[in-house]
Amino acid sequence: APSVLTMNGHFASIGEAPSEDQYELGIQVIDEEKEFNPNLNKYLQITQTAHSGFNYHLISVFGSQSTGKSTLLNHLFGTQFGVMSETERRQTTKGIWMSKNKNEAVEGKGMADNILVMDVEGTDGRERGEDQDFERKSALFALATSEVLIVNIWEHQVGLYQGANMGLLKTVFEVNLQLFLKDKQSNPRSLLFFVIRDHLGTTPLTNLRNTLIADLSNIWASLSKPAGLEKSRIEDYFDFAFAALPHKILQPEKFVAEVQKLGTRFRAGHRKANGFDQELEGGVFLPEYHRRIPADGFSIYAQGVWDQIVNNKDLDLPTQQELLAQFRCDEISREVLEAFDVAISPLEEQQGEGVRSGKPAVMKDLGNTGKASRMKSIKAFEVEASRYHKGVYARKRVELEGKIDTRLKALYHGQLSAAHKSGVISFSEAVASAVKAGQKKGASYEFADIVAREKSVALKHFESEAKSLAIENVSWSNFKSQYNLYEKDLDEVSARLRKEEMRRLATRVERWVRSRLGESVGLEFNKLGSGRGGSGAPETGEKPLTEKDLWDRIWNVFIATVKEAETRFIERAKSFDASQDEIEVGLWRLRRKSWGVLRVKIDEEVMEGNILLKLRENFEDKFRYDEAGVPRIWRPQDDIEGIYTKAKESTVTLIPLLSRFRLAETYAPPDLPEWIGVAPNSVDPKDEEDLAPIGGVDEEEGKSLEEEMTILSEAKRQDLVVRFKKTADGVYVEAKRSAIGGVAQ
Ligand code: GDP
Ligand code: MG
Repeated sequence: APSVLTMNGHFASIGEAPSEDQYELGIQVIDEEKEFNPNLNKYLQITQTAHSGFNYHLISVFGSQSTGKSTLLNHLFGTQFGVMSETERRQTTKGIWMSKNKNEAVEGKGMADNILVMDVEGTDGRERGEDQDFERKSALFALATSEVLIVNIWEHQVGLYQGANMGLLKTVFEVNLQLFLKDKQSNPRSLLFFVIRDHLGTTPLTNLRNTLIADLSNIWASLSKPAGLEKSRIEDYFDFAFAALPHKILQPEKFVAEVQKLGTRFRAGHRKANGFDQELEGGVFLPEYHRRIPADGFSIYAQGVWDQIVNNKDLDLPTQQELLAQFRCDEISREVLEAFDVAISPLEEQQGEGVRSGKPAVMKDLGNTGKASRMKSIKAFEVEASRYHKGVYARKRVELEGKIDTRLKALYHGQLSAAHKSGVISFSEAVASAVKAGQKKGASYEFADIVAREKSVALKHFESEAKSLAIENVSWSNFKSQYNLYEKDLDEVSARLRKEEMRRLATRVERWVRSRLGESVGLEFNKLGSGRGGSGAPETGEKPLTEKDLWDRIWNVFIATVKEAETRFIERAKSFDASQDEIEVGLWRLRRKSWGVLRVKIDEEVMEGNILLKLRENFEDKFRYDEAGVPRIWRPQDDIEGIYTKAKESTVTLIPLLSRFRLAETYAPPDLPEWIGVAPNSVDPKDEEDLAPIGGVDEEEGKSLEEEMTILSEAKRQDLVVRFKKTADGVYVEAKRSAIGGVAQ
């Protein structure tokens, strides 16, 4: 499309790449082909209008061709719309042109900010015999966008009811009814501002005004109105204002002065009364004229409106406004999310890296950063988007919050999971080091107290992190369930630590049992070395008491020792809050382990060298001492052989006794299975691998109680008898020798 050159300037037309100087004069919004210029928003940006919110104004001018409309606008607003050359009388290109007011203040009374003026060319198709399509379409477009419609009219045309102007006004009224029929809530009004040109002054403006009003009423009355609006009055939709200007060519100075005066009326004003009898106070811009399209959405809105008009669709402004709101809210949301992304992505990356490397870190100050970014984003959206359709805005705001919160939620959950992990680790470490410190001091530390103290520290830590992430009135940011999960985990860790503590306690108690049994069982075996302990009467065949109830005494000392150990264990375990169940398992293990300790101790005592020595001592005691315990001095006449045989026989009887753990009374093994008891239900076989199987107790092991209680095998027993006899023989030979030797002396 050709651009229009006027003077030295340039109006940007469609298809031109936008650049600042191309917009020097303005922009061709719609060209003669009825194409909409997609660069309109660019123009609004270049002229600093795009971010003015509602603080801008739109004026359109209507009137017959060559009535000096463009000339008027150029004087009023410092614009440079195309003016028909005096010499060529060539018509300016059809279309709608826009330019921003360049006159700022007139005589100290400021004009309103950001006045956008639309010069509508070619609205007088009827005059040139063309179809009235463009006239109708541009009228619709102007009404859908503009607050003030300047109607430019020669003085001598006033009262010519059949004139082209009146036809144009009829069109304006008709499209207005069509347009605002559907839009009852917003009740849009427009100002028709009649500027009467070439006013001679002989007819006062009031008279001209009355004539025009009478004509307008007639036109309104003649309109066929849509159903439901039959009774509507013209003043329901329009306010009217009037001005007259002197002849520009005949009275140029007066013309300029009057135009300047007229310019001061383009500022904010308010209403004194309605309709025909209106009087606007202040300027012509009443808030109710404003179409309430935010400046940054104006180009989209105007384009949507124009598309509907061009395609002869029913123009439905509320729908257009909603569509605009959706489009703009989405755009604003996208911009806001981009900024949010810049703030949040690095944190997400940092967190992701931590997770991938297996070292999730708790990020510093995340709550504040997240909150600030969220607030900033929503606020930014609010500022721009809340100017649009309320319903759409509210919906899009919820959508935006949803998107922001999805990101924050993931980030925050990651943060809490890191806090959870590190919290559990520090908790176990803190407990372990407090236990270690307690052990070092030797004082009996209270495990339960340590756990309780460290748990409360760990919970407080987590809680303060969770609280720092909480967002007011946002339900997902209440991290109660994460907190509960954390506490549950701490309890599990506590239970595990307590179990370990129980093991340590068990080990200590077992050590104590080992040392006690080592002494007391050793003592019992040592008594074997004395053949006269309990002083039985060998000649009556009665075995000495000490030997006969060896196992009874060992068993008794064993169960007494374990009983004492159990008491210690229970007392200590209770101090760290072990459960009844845990205590039972501990005691069960203690009994089994203690039996093992005893069994090892017995095996040690009956080891070949040890037991042989004891048997020899036992024998020598019987052989070398008399009944009164006096050492024998062998003389040749003594019955060495008899005494030897008796002592030897007596000692040999100990071997079968030693071979089996049997109680004297029942002549049976102690009821070990009964004493150990059945395994508590909570015993996990996986945890008990360190427990050696016990014959008769762990039946599936295939070892009987009898076998468990066998101290010396048959072969060992026989071997022991042979060895002992040899030892005894040696002692006998020595005695014999000493007897003979004593005589020789
Ligand atoms: P438009 O077609 O309505 O935009 O009219 P123009 O502004 O292009 O002006 C058309 C012709 O009218 C030009 O030759 C102007 O010089 C002339 N003109 C402009 N203003 C006035 C005026 O106030 N009175 C008269 N008589 N002629 C004017
Ligand atoms: Mg013009």
